[in-house]
Amino acid sequence: MQSKSQTILEDRFGRVVDYLRLSVTDRCDFRCVYCMAEDMQFLPRQQVLTLEEMAFLGQAFVSLGVRRIRLTGGEPLVRRGVMTLVNQLAAQPGLDELTITTNGSQLATMAPALLEAGVRRLNISLDSLHPQRFAAITRTGKLSRVLEGIEAAQHAGIERIKLNSVIVRDLNDDEILPLLDFALERGLDISYIEEMPLGQIDCRDRRGGLVTSEEVRECIGERYSLLASTEASAGPSRYYRIAGSDSRIGFISPHSHNFCDSCNRVRVTCEGRLLLCLGNEHSVDLRAVIRRYPGDMAALQEAIVNAMALKPERHYFYHDDKPQVLRFMNATGG
Ligand code: SAM
Ligand code: SF4
Repeated sequence: MQSKSQTILEDRFGRVVDYLRLSVTDRCDFRCVYCMAEDMQFLPRQQVLTLEEMAFLGQAFVSLGVRRIRLTGGEPLVRRGVMTLVNQLAAQPGLDELTITTNGSQLATMAPALLEAGVRRLNISLDSLHPQRFAAITRTGKLSRVLEGIEAAQHAGIERIKLNSVIVRDLNDDEILPLLDFALERGLDISYIEEMPLGQIDCRDRRGGLVTSEEVRECIGERYSLLASTEASAGPSRYYRIAGSDSRIGFISPHSHNFCDSCNRVRVTCEGRLLLCLGNEHSVDLRAVIRRYPGDMAALQEAIVNAMALKPERHYFYHDDKPQVLRFMNATGG
């Protein structure tokens, strides 16, 4: 079969998919309370795609019109040898941008290499500026190390850094403004994220903890005037600016804002499961295709193109009041 170099990925609803989020690993050096259970079972290594398989997969998506790839996880930068993948993907002709979402723990040492590979933008998660609270939220993380990482990334010359802050009631909802000030002082962007019910977490009721983007905006509005930005994203973010600052302030609102109409993305888990929607379990096993037909680009392209028919119209996180997505965020690739 011929390589589908001219095919683009389009689903049943006319949405063109040109953005891939690839989870490099389900493992992580942190255990954030909203993301993982304390005692996580990680995947056996043979179930996880090799870095070569991931590079091949990236190549297939780019050949099908994907222009942007974001590496995520788990913590992408703790996977051994990940720089090989970063270098290979970043050098892929046709790819406009390779970005990474990270908890920042490895950036103090890795930031220069990422820049050299061609990574120009990073998302770094930061939910608290209090060392003890940061340790409690991440269970194993150290705030000072992440702050060093942010500084190292800026120092290395990464052009745009966006902080991702999940705001949870009675956990860190008093840090909405301090986190914003931290971003503004350093010329960083910041996105506030509504917690999503991915995976069952026994220690608390997620619905009670939900702080909506509306509430976060109201809180910010008490100190700053938020100017709605015309910059649209095909994802769940809405952006604002504050007069006199270059920082973009985003709100990721899977609960209160239905962003599905313009959804341009798919995800691939570290096991090679192609997820067509964050809030649904529809998926296709690309690892089976890669391992059944090693090196067969056409077979992989065909599986990806056919999978588009499964992309659902919209997400439903809850069904009959119960969370319906059972995988954890680290398995999904946030
Ligand atoms: N380890 C990296 C990190 O923390 O940035 C990348 C993976 S993490 C799963 C990606 C993003 O998902 C992070 O910003 C994290 O805060 C967010 N996240 C994790 N679990 C979430 C949940 N249940 N609801 C909303 N966001 C979540
Ligand atoms: Fe790890 Fe990121 Fe999940 Fe926190 S949010 S446990 S850093 S994967």
